[in-house]
Amino acid sequence: MTEASPAEALCVICGRAGTAPMAPPRRTLARGADPDDASYSIIAVLPDVALCAEHFEDVRRGELSIGWCDAEQCRLYGEHGQPSPCGEPFKTLKR
Ligand SMILES: [Zn+2]
Ligand SMILES: [Zn+2]
Repeated sequence: MTEASPAEALCVICGRAGTAPMAPPRRTLARGADPDDASYSIIAVLPDVALCAEHFEDVRRGELSIGWCDAEQCRLYGEHGQPSPCGEPFKTLKR
């Protein structure tokens, strides 16, 4: 009677157990030359964002925004505007 549990998610802000997963954001990486051909844009789905209850509330109230660092060595979520491990600040996610 073991339930298959999803991989343990940790809050992207504080690293505590994440209890409030958000839908994975999408972003457009590149657009084709032909604007009529929608299939030409490359959409990447980023990994799920997990937040602890506390930070989920902060995001919901608009007091915290989640950013993303797209550097090869990072590819991490973090608090928008804060420096990521590579030194670049986490950037706004486009939804
Ligand atoms: Zn947290
Ligand atoms: Zn980085």
